[in-house]
Amino acid sequence: MEYLYGKTLKEIKEICETYNQKPFAAKQIAEWLYKKNADDISQMTNLSLSFRKELSKDYSVGLTPFIKVLVSRDGTKKYLFQYKDNTFVEAVCIFDKERVTLCISSQAGCKMNCDFCATGKQGFQRNLSSNEILNIFRSVEEFNRIKNIVFMGMGEPLDNWQEVKKTLEILCESYAYGFSPHRITLSSAGYLPFLNKFLTETNVDLAISLHNPISSQRKDIMPIEKAYPIEQTVKLLKHFDWTGQRHLTFEYIVFEGLNNKSEHVNELAKLLNGLPCRINLIPFNTLPGTRYCGASDGSMQSFKDKLNKKGLLTTIRASKGQDIMAACGLLSAKERNIVPK
Ligand code: SF4
Repeated sequence: MEYLYGKTLKEIKEICETYNQKPFAAKQIAEWLYKKNADDISQMTNLSLSFRKELSKDYSVGLTPFIKVLVSRDGTKKYLFQYKDNTFVEAVCIFDKERVTLCISSQAGCKMNCDFCATGKQGFQRNLSSNEILNIFRSVEEFNRIKNIVFMGMGEPLDNWQEVKKTLEILCESYAYGFSPHRITLSSAGYLPFLNKFLTETNVDLAISLHNPISSQRKDIMPIEKAYPIEQTVKLLKHFDWTGQRHLTFEYIVFEGLNNKSEHVNELAKLLNGLPCRINLIPFNTLPGTRYCGASDGSMQSFKDKLNKKGLLTTIRASKGQDIMAACGLLSAKERNIVPK
């Protein structure tokens, strides 16, 4: 049984052709899936009964409910989904007054193996399909209130480009959800094979996980630096036109004594010189069994001030959901018995 949810209009048209249906049937199906929130083919009442019956033999809508939700003292919610092959995938809903931001995953596990990341420590299981990525968005309790979507959950989204691209199309195109691309941010560790495609084929905002501007030190915490040095990523980004509405952010988890010294301030200024961007400092959610120590509030502020003095627009991300295993990958790792429950 194949799933309809997560298919692009073009793919739905191809399916309709195999049933000798006219192209407008595809538009009707897309509307039921993405605008009228149908969860069963039988609800698509403007399709003929015979077509619905035929279609239901091979396809279902294909929604999967979450299996667990943890709610933090500050209201942040962490969802867990279980997909086929016993893969567990996380999502987080963050609340800021009326604004709801959904953080979604693109892979089960991750190949990038960043040393500080619970998802990286799980290893890689598999890519998520566009059905599984979008299902997270559709199935959380806040579905109708989501204002922003960030691809900052499990996985490197550019390492699953085909499915992520389809997901972005369905989120942004008017036949489906019609999100502004500037309400979506894709976060990448700098996976160069598909960065240029992402920049030219979408208009979605970009966040690059930087965490250390010094190559020899970045290699220690982010093995991707060996294959795709941050200098090359920044070089590519400097060739791109950032004068429009599109935003570029560099994410920087601050580890006390490791990446918040004067040398890092100076190297960041050199690396990002001339690039219209923002640095977002992130407090570290301590992980069991790691050598990393999060910076204090004072230390974060002092690092921010030094970067601002160098002319680098720098902000500090508010820490949310500390009490519900906020670090991405922890909840799914517990479910898979990778870390003690
Ligand atoms: S930080 Fe992101 S890219 Fe690195 S291992 Fe974790 S999920 Fe993968």
